[in-house]
Amino acid sequence: MGFVEEDIERVRAATSIVEVIQGYVALRKAGRNWVGLCPFHAEKSGSFNVREETSRYKCFGCQAAGDVFTFVQEIEHIDFPASVEKLAARSNITLTYTTGGEGQDRSRRKQLLGAMESAVEWYHQRLLKSPDARSAREYLRDRGLAGDVARQFRLGYAPDEWDALSSYLTEQGFKADVLSDVGLAFTNKSNRLQDSFRARIMFPIFSDNGDAVAFGGRILPGSTDPAKYKNSAETKIYFKSKTLYGMNWAKSDVVKDDQVIVCEGYTDVIGFHRSGVPRAVATCGTSLTEEHVRMMKRFATKVVLAFDADKAGQGAAEKFYAWEEKYQVRVSVARFPDGKDPGDLASSDPQALALAIKDAVPFLRFRLDRVIAAQPQRTPEDRARLASLAMQVINEHPDVNVRKLYAGEVATIVGLPVADLARLAERRSTQPVISPPIPRASGDSDSAEFIAIALLLQTWDAIAPWLIEDLFYSEIPRRAFLNLAHAAEVEQGSLLNNALASADPEVRELLERAAVADIDIDPPSVALSLIAVGVRRTLSQRTGIVDPVEILEDRAARLELEKLDDPKTGFVTAESLLRWLGIRGTTTRG
Ligand SMILES: [Zn+2]
Repeated sequence: MGFVEEDIERVRAATSIVEVIQGYVALRKAGRNWVGLCPFHAEKSGSFNVREETSRYKCFGCQAAGDVFTFVQEIEHIDFPASVEKLAARSNITLTYTTGGEGQDRSRRKQLLGAMESAVEWYHQRLLKSPDARSAREYLRDRGLAGDVARQFRLGYAPDEWDALSSYLTEQGFKADVLSDVGLAFTNKSNRLQDSFRARIMFPIFSDNGDAVAFGGRILPGSTDPAKYKNSAETKIYFKSKTLYGMNWAKSDVVKDDQVIVCEGYTDVIGFHRSGVPRAVATCGTSLTEEHVRMMKRFATKVVLAFDADKAGQGAAEKFYAWEEKYQVRVSVARFPDGKDPGDLASSDPQALALAIKDAVPFLRFRLDRVIAAQPQRTPEDRARLASLAMQVINEHPDVNVRKLYAGEVATIVGLPVADLARLAERRSTQPVISPPIPRASGDSDSAEFIAIALLLQTWDAIAPWLIEDLFYSEIPRRAFLNLAHAAEVEQGSLLNNALASADPEVRELLERAAVADIDIDPPSVALSLIAVGVRRTLSQRTGIVDPVEILEDRAARLELEKLDDPKTGFVTAESLLRWLGIRGTTTRG
């Protein structure tokens, strides 16, 4: 299956790679490139480079590289056709399919997403309009979740009927196996299709791209159903450990503020939005996973936990500290007055909600304050016990200096010598922090030959007339040059893509790097210096020449070399030297 080649190029031309990637990664302008933290590996400094002009990206940390289609495939875990479809839709381009239509996986995924989207809308309309949804509407109105809020978050109502949704979707042409595959319905004992959700307020869960992938359903007050919340099971389009409720709405504010707030429930997320803090997300019935952190890191470096982090259980602290180190995020904890949750506060005191985020404290501060508040301090025995409990909490932290500073504080509180507790903090066996060295770009990155290749990609016409094969002395840049020269003769498609299509792996690697190389040098001056180097090298190799004509020509070349720097005659001289190199260079190259 596939698309007409021109369509793919049309989509490429209509798409800004920077804009697309900025939908996933915060990028800043650095010279000619846009640079950010790589979404494909954990890193502390930005190795991820995007270049608008060449429409390529490249990570110097993990070597991920490609064009806008590759990026969308990698980040969305979809195949090439799906990436073309996605980007085409973005630019309102209609694709012409070649034989076979869409791939099976693709078309299946589309059906599953289509069924979810139809269900979201159906539940939503039911909530807004149906008489049987009255108590659901009242419940939501009492909590400030009606009207515009219900519309923005597309809240819905699953009626107290056993197959209302299934019947509707079946009429719409969705097959039974599609409905069961997305968890909207199941086949019951009498072999009939039955709705999975019944008599519940529905919170649709979207991917960070805005595709509906799952539901959380809440019972109404007075229900005898023991499960307050029922969540979709994992499906082919829904992975709990990779989904954060609300990310689709929060994304832009998260990037803008470099901060993401993690709550426990759907209504907490909505509460933050209502209080003018639209950068909250929630896990969907799981605890926070490393996948979640990896995903959040694509958008922000500050993570505020807006739930009782102590409840996260044993081992949570270790996890959080490890993630802080591994993903270079800062985890802090928001404290809410009198054990209220963000959803409550949004109604009663929205300012307090915003303030709690502003005053969020580091995770260790939060833990330590809890311990100190919970322990009596009257007797020396009390205080010794407090010191010991506090040191246990402090020693979970991987940074010795952080431990010592907190230990000093505890020493002051309990009245022990600071040095004693600092020693305890020091002795904690520190685990080695896993941080693989970031491989550096290989050494030819700034060589004149590499720069010439990069400039060919940037501004072919400004440098191509001054370059010949003999100026490329290093093997891989020479092959890259020949590859590009060949690609430049192809009429269709972009220079880079044509070159990449026929490149061997080494050349490919060099081209990928050159496509994002941040070079701001006057192209002709690069050509002139390559010519000077080439002529000198060739002359030095031409010993024992006896032919009198050749001797004269070599001597002329040597004289012309001196004039190459002269701004008035430089280019005429260069042309003459290129001619000489064209003849003599090939004979002397090894
Ligand atoms: Zn990377």
